[in-house]
Amino acid sequence: MIFALVGNQNSGKTTLFNQLTGSNQRVGNFPGVTVEQKTGNIVGHKDVSIVDLPGIYSLSTYTSEEILTRNFLLKQKPDGIINIVDATNIERNLYLTLQLIELQIPMVLALNMMDEVQANNGTIDIQQMRDALGIPVVPISAINKQGLAELVEQSISTTNNRLKPEHIDFCSGAVHRAIHAIAHLIEDHTQKQGIPIRFSATRLVEGDELIYRFLYLDKNEAETIEHAVKEMENELHTDREAAMADMRYQFIGNICDKCVVKAKESREYRRSVWLDSVLTHKIWAFPAFLGIMLLVFAITFGVIGNRLSYLLVGGLDSLSRIVDKALTLYGINPVIHSLIIDAIFAGVGAVLSFLPIIITLFFFLSLLEDSGYMARVAYVMDKPLRKIGLSGRSFVPMLIGFGCTVPAVMATRTLASDRDKKMTIFLTPFMSCSAKLPIYALFTAAFFPRYQAFVMIGIYLIGIALGIFSGFIMKNMIFKGSPVPFVMELPNYRFPTVKTVLLLVWYKAKDFIQRAFTIIFLATIVIWFLQSFDVRLNLVDGSEGSLLAAIGRLIDGIFVPLGFSDWRISTALITGFVAKEAVISTLAVLTGASIAEIGEILHTLFSPLSAFSFLVFTLLYTPCVAAVSVTKRELGSLKGMFYIIIYQTGIAWLVAFIVYQIGRLVVS
Ligand code: GDP
Ligand code: MG
Repeated sequence: MIFALVGNQNSGKTTLFNQLTGSNQRVGNFPGVTVEQKTGNIVGHKDVSIVDLPGIYSLSTYTSEEILTRNFLLKQKPDGIINIVDATNIERNLYLTLQLIELQIPMVLALNMMDEVQANNGTIDIQQMRDALGIPVVPISAINKQGLAELVEQSISTTNNRLKPEHIDFCSGAVHRAIHAIAHLIEDHTQKQGIPIRFSATRLVEGDELIYRFLYLDKNEAETIEHAVKEMENELHTDREAAMADMRYQFIGNICDKCVVKAKESREYRRSVWLDSVLTHKIWAFPAFLGIMLLVFAITFGVIGNRLSYLLVGGLDSLSRIVDKALTLYGINPVIHSLIIDAIFAGVGAVLSFLPIIITLFFFLSLLEDSGYMARVAYVMDKPLRKIGLSGRSFVPMLIGFGCTVPAVMATRTLASDRDKKMTIFLTPFMSCSAKLPIYALFTAAFFPRYQAFVMIGIYLIGIALGIFSGFIMKNMIFKGSPVPFVMELPNYRFPTVKTVLLLVWYKAKDFIQRAFTIIFLATIVIWFLQSFDVRLNLVDGSEGSLLAAIGRLIDGIFVPLGFSDWRISTALITGFVAKEAVISTLAVLTGASIAEIGEILHTLFSPLSAFSFLVFTLLYTPCVAAVSVTKRELGSLKGMFYIIIYQTGIAWLVAFIVYQIGRLVVS
C-alpha cells in the first residue's frame, strides 16, 4: 500500500514523514527544501510505504514541484493521499485540499501544528470540518508525535475500504454549469486515459494546456469547451482562473467560519512581526544580516572553533609522532615511512584539523535556518536579485551554494523558468563553498590573526559582489528578459529544534570526514608520489628535482603577477580542482610541515599581501570536478561547462592581479 504525502510548503510534511518512517530526512524552516520525492515504510506497518513529495500550493503546473507531484498522483496512482494541512494557516492550505479531493483517491486530512493552535486558544471543530469536506480529518502535531497512531489507522482503513472523498461539488451558479457541461463532454476521453473526470473538467475550465493535449480532444470539442468557459466568464465578469479561485475560496471561507475559532493573534505571529520589523526592515535588514554573519564568524573563528581546532591539531600531532617513532623502531622501509608520515598524516591531518571550525559554523547556520531567519533573507534578497534579473527564489540554491555547489546546482531544478535556472547556475560558483573554508581559516589565522572575522566576511562579500557584477553583465548581454514572479510567504519564527540542528551538523561533519579519507587521501598519495620521484622513477632527494616540480614549473609563470612565485603554490592550486581542501593537504605535503607548523611555514611562501591575493584567487577560480560535472548535467551542455571554468578562472586571475598590483603600490 502506498500513501502520497501532499501539502503546502513548510506544512510539516518532512517532519511527519520522518516520524512515521523513523528516517532522518532534512527538515527546514524555509520553502523549497524537499526537491525530490523520498519513500519510506511506516514503522510497525512493513507493507505500507509513504512518499514525501515537494511542497506545493496547487495542482496547476507553473513550477517543477507542482509538475512532479501532479505526475506522481496521476500516473503512479498511490492507494491513498495523506494531505497535510498547517492548521495555523488553514484557509490557504485548504485550497490544495479541494483540488486533491477532485482526484477521487482515498484521502485523509492531517491537521498539523495543532500544538500551536491550542497554545493560542484557538479551536477547530473537527467533526464539522469532516462533514463539510467529506473526508476524515485527524488533528496531529507532527513534531510532538501527537495523533500519529490515529492518523495511520485512519489512512489505512480509508484506503482499505476504498472510501473516496464523499463530495466533489463545491461549486454553484455559472461555475457549476460550466464544470458540469464540460464534464459531460469529456467523460469518454477521461475514461480512456484513466484520469479523474472532475479534476480534468476543472483544469479545463482553468485553461490547462497539458490536459487538453492529454485527453486528445478534437477541434469541435475544444471549441465547445471554450464556449462554455466564455459564457461563464461573461456571466461572472472575471477571467476563468479567477472564477475558479473565487469559487474555492468562497467554499473555504464558509467552512472556516463554521469550524475554526481563531485566537486573535497568535503568540508566534506577534513575535514574528516584532522580529521582522527589524530583520526585514527596508534599511536595517541588510546591516542586521551583516551583523549576524559577522557575529557567527567571530564566534566560530575567534572563540570556539579555533580553540577546538588547536586541541585537535595537538592530538593529531602527538599521534603522528607516536606512529613516527613506532615505525622507526620497527625499521620500516623509509619510502613507506615517508608515505605514511609525510603524506597521509600531514595531508589528511591538515584537512581534518578544520573539522571543529566546520562543525561550529554549520551549527550556527543551522540555528539560523531552522529558526526561519534564512527565509527572511531570501525575502529581503528578492529586490536586489531583481536588479540583476533574478528573483528571491534563486536565493535558495545560492544559499545552499555556500555549503556546496553540487546540491546548489541541483536545487536550481525548483526554478520555474529555464532562463532563471541557467543564470542561477552560472552565479552559484560565486557563493564561496564550505570546502574552501579550511583554506581561508588557515591563511587568515596565519596572516591576519587579529582581523580574522573581518577578512573572512570580506572574502565572502567579494564573491557576492563579483556575482552581482557578473549577473549585470549576463542580464544585459546573454539572459535578456525578466524573472518569473516570486511569491513566498514567511513562516513564523520558531525555536530551533535540537534534533534538526544536530542532524544538519552531523551530515556536514560526516561528509567532511568522508571527503578527508577518500578524495583528499587519494589526492595526497598522488601528490606525494609525484614529488618523491623523478621522471625516471628514481627517488629524489628533496622535491626540487621531482616530477611534480617539473609540472608546477610549467605553469607557475602565470601566477607570478599575482604574487605567487613558488611552484608549490601553483601545484596546490591545480590539485584544488579535484577538491578545494586538497589545496591545504598539498601545501602540507610539499612543504613537509607538520600539522602544527604549517601556519608558520606559509610565511616563507607568502607575504600578507600575496596571501590575500591567494585567498581571492581560491575564492573565485574554477569550481571542483564534482561541481563542474553536475553543472554540465543540469545545463545539458558541455559548452556551458567550459564557459564556467574559463570565466571563473579568468575573473579569479584578473581580480587577484588587481588586488596584488594595487596592494604593492599602496605598500611601497
Ligand atoms: P515541509 O516543508 O512541509 O517538509 O515542512 P518541514 O517538515 O520541513 O517543517 C517545516 C517547519 O515546521 C519546521 O521548522 C518544523 O520543525 C515545523 N513543524 C513541523 N511540524 C510541526 C508541529 O506539529 N508543530 C510545530 N509547532 N511545528 C512543526
Ligand atoms: Mg520537506
